[in-house]
Amino acid sequence: MIGINLEHISQHFGEQIALDDVSLTVKEGEFFSLLGPSGCGKSTLLNIIGGFLEPTKGVVYIGDQDVTALPPYQRKTGMVFQSYALFPHLTVFDNVAYGLKVQKKKKAEIKQKVMESLSLVQLEAFAKRMPHQLSGGQQQRVAIARALAIQPAVLLLDEPLSNLDAKLRKNMQTELRNIQRNVGITTILVTHDQEEALSLSDRIGILGEGKIQQIGTPLEVYRQPNNRFVAEFIGQVNIFEAVYDEADSAYTVPHLTQSNGQHVQLKAAAHQENREKGLLMLRPERISISSVREEVQSNHVTGVLADVSYIGHSLRLVVGLDTGEIIVHASDAAFPQLPEVGETVHIHWQPDDIVFLDSKVHT
Ligand code: ADP
Ligand code: MG
Repeated sequence: MIGINLEHISQHFGEQIALDDVSLTVKEGEFFSLLGPSGCGKSTLLNIIGGFLEPTKGVVYIGDQDVTALPPYQRKTGMVFQSYALFPHLTVFDNVAYGLKVQKKKKAEIKQKVMESLSLVQLEAFAKRMPHQLSGGQQQRVAIARALAIQPAVLLLDEPLSNLDAKLRKNMQTELRNIQRNVGITTILVTHDQEEALSLSDRIGILGEGKIQQIGTPLEVYRQPNNRFVAEFIGQVNIFEAVYDEADSAYTVPHLTQSNGQHVQLKAAAHQENREKGLLMLRPERISISSVREEVQSNHVTGVLADVSYIGHSLRLVVGLDTGEIIVHASDAAFPQLPEVGETVHIHWQPDDIVFLDSKVHT
């Protein structure tokens, strides 16, 4: 197995800076996702790793080898493009065999490797079909088999599941993870889908405006985002621009006022030293909601339901205050009957659930 090391990669297209000094390491055998909104530079970075684009600046290492100037076929990488890019006039077998033929492998070896790859994606029975005789999900699996057939050291996947419907997508995610584990291949998945990245990856690199915003495990990037961009991109979030109130040892939120005229106050478990202002976050599912007021000293707010949306497994509730609002996610099981807009509600959270976004915290 082999890892990948990117050092200070920049990519300029004329005036535009698509990638700005990106450095990251993908470990041997790791499933690494590049996550970010459309246009943030994900495909550009994957194309640089695969050798389809030479970076303006920076070095690409695959294993110990500097491959920055090498063409794709000398890189030990297999790539699946977003569009699948199957050859429409070739059978499934010949599509998967393509790279091996380019490498001038013997016929018997080609047959064996093609059938092995097709068996990994469970399509042995479809070898003689043409691409147009396959469903979108099956075509996608052929594209993955084709990338795996040349036995690359690194698998590069550019939004490979983005054209599939929700159910098939979930199945393919599980299959992709199983294939990756079985082959043990170092994999980089490009996606704009937070849930896909969280559920599949060993680690995630979040890309925003051409820069790496954070690299971490799914748990780290969700629970301890580095900044506002990461917090807002991965899941829903309440963000508070708060001011520290020494007398109460709590953070006051000027933009949130309750009906009694008081500002919302947040008591955090940790404290930012020497800072009178802080950017704090609270995930909606960390908040408990009730029609009766709990007897608690801090971290509670009273408001009125401004919106209720039912998502099946959960409810998304918007709690309106005199000024501003707080988003709450509650489990479907918590409400035998749906709460109604206009109801008075009391919300509450634990000090541990307040997370600082913008600087180091002293506990
Ligand atoms: P993503 O895959 O994250 O959606 P891309 O890597 O495709 O984003 O693109 C990043 C930025 O670089 C975009 O603003 C895009 O328009 C620009 N870009 C990508 N490829 C080219 C190119 N060949 N020429 C000019 N601009 C490009
Ligand atoms: Mg892209």
